[in-house]
Amino acid sequence: MSAKVVAAGKVVGIYYTLKNAEGEVLDTNRRGGKPLAFLHGAGNILPALESALLGKQKDERVLVELEPAQGYGERDEQAVRKVPRSSLPTEPPPEPGMQYSASTPSGGKAVVRVLAIEGDEITLDQNHPLAGARLFFDVVIAGVRDATDEERQHGHPHGVGGHHH
Ligand code: ZN
Repeated sequence: MSAKVVAAGKVVGIYYTLKNAEGEVLDTNRRGGKPLAFLHGAGNILPALESALLGKQKDERVLVELEPAQGYGERDEQAVRKVPRSSLPTEPPPEPGMQYSASTPSGGKAVVRVLAIEGDEITLDQNHPLAGARLFFDVVIAGVRDATDEERQHGHPHGVGGHHH
């Protein structure tokens, strides 16, 4: 197998644009950015996207369409709840789209987003902003190289487009 083929244990650099079903750009690193680097097989990116890129080569363009379940999950209406304004910090005043870090009953942390405000009642949504969305990735493989031993141990790439620490 060629050294420039995407496989587990390779550090892969990609340029990507993510759109929703309406064709709106949700995210991209093509606007003058460096390639995003990830360690293939380490779960740095969505597993379904990782699978779709397996076996692709440098400079190859890959269009990947993911169902919500392969992306950020289906929307869970149980994760939407109303709380009194008094349960949120007063400064800055809550606004739709604002995010808060909240403690969960199991002791973890969850991000909740303000969906709506009606008088003293605030609707919070704990779903990922992309939950329920079909995702359309337009990817170009910018580079493929072997991971170093250190990168393999850390489970992520270092250097350009990767971690700096
Ligand atoms: Zn590291």
